[in-house]
Amino acid sequence: MNKKTVKDIDVQGKKVLMRVDFNVPVNDDGSVGDDTRIEAALPTIQYLLEQNASIILMSHLGRPKGEVKPEFTLKPVAAALSAKLGKPVAFAKDSVGEDAQTKAAALQAGEILLLENLRFYAEEEGKGCTDEAKATFTKALASLGEVYVNDAFGTAHRAHASTAGVTEYIEECAAGLLLEKEINYLAKTLEAPEHPFVAIIGGAKISGKIDVVINLMDKCDTILIGGGMAYTFFKAMGQKIGGSIHEDDKMELAKQIMADAKAKGVKFLLPVDNKIGDDFSNDCNTEIVAGDIPDGWEGMDIGPETQKLFAAEIASAKTVVWNGPMGCFEMPTFASGTFTIAQAVADNTECISIIGGGDSVAAIKQAKLDDKITHISTGGGASLELMEGKVLPGLDALSDK
Ligand code: AMP
Repeated sequence: MNKKTVKDIDVQGKKVLMRVDFNVPVNDDGSVGDDTRIEAALPTIQYLLEQNASIILMSHLGRPKGEVKPEFTLKPVAAALSAKLGKPVAFAKDSVGEDAQTKAAALQAGEILLLENLRFYAEEEGKGCTDEAKATFTKALASLGEVYVNDAFGTAHRAHASTAGVTEYIEECAAGLLLEKEINYLAKTLEAPEHPFVAIIGGAKISGKIDVVINLMDKCDTILIGGGMAYTFFKAMGQKIGGSIHEDDKMELAKQIMADAKAKGVKFLLPVDNKIGDDFSNDCNTEIVAGDIPDGWEGMDIGPETQKLFAAEIASAKTVVWNGPMGCFEMPTFASGTFTIAQAVADNTECISIIGGGDSVAAIKQAKLDDKITHISTGGGASLELMEGKVLPGLDALSDK
């Protein structure tokens, strides 16, 4: 990585303004539902504490859309972080107001302050704000710290005040250890993968993953397509798909992709059989079919022959990247494709395996196979954009080495 990391800059005794991704689920009783993202930020926080820095943490939570909405407060996260660190974490009830300023100014070495939800301010994302309002907000945020660290991989694909804007007003801007790790795994693997490199792409629609497929076409040996997006390819090939999810406006694109794969010598594998249902529900009637899907039925998972075919490809891979479920895995009746693929990736202990995207990550965790995966990305959108070959604004804005 050509950007400075927190270990390349002097943080000794300094006030560090740090963007984290604490966008965690909060239960009705106000407790944190899943603390994976808090855990993921601990290495950088602990490193900064060892350097006697004082840390001002900032994050968004949910989509309050520029308004103060108590259900999106970050206060429970301060308590959860405090419990993990075994030390107090102060909480400011605003992000740039008097409380934040007073508490940030009074912060001593080794102390931590968490600011209230950045997205209580429209200026954070900037939608509908004047340039002047955005600049005032961004400057006020930047004024809280002496150096800036971005450890929020989950929002690194957004050019917001806290992810990119503040870097205009702070001289030393570095990546946190989580951001560094994510970039090292994902970007480096995509740059120089060990072959055979197998990409597994699933999910509802072709439109959400099209740029990923196109970008990976130049890097992969094999692309396995599952999930709802497969049916657009089937329809483009003239097969009957019944009521399966598909995108009529992507037919030509689907044909083009298949032609490109052929021209580039990439093995492009679609499901050879499908588990279909007569209703979009867990307790519908099901059948396994190869080829045409009759009217009144829809494809909801990859079938057993496809599972075997895909698992065999995965077993011989040296690099595997997986994004998107193989079917409607939220319904147990149609979960077997996704879980079989999860098992196949976990079973190949010789390969570098990288999983990104909320649903595939959820599936691997549900199957309790997460400790068998080389790297599980903490950012669905950001990991997709890296796989699309895009530059992440939150990374790009950091100081060069
Ligand atoms: P994405 O956000 O594009 O990765 O899509 C994930 C969603 O795709 C999940 O909620 C799955 O239930 C859904 N999905 C996967 N396969 C199908 C399918 N064959 N038909 C409808 N939805 C699907």
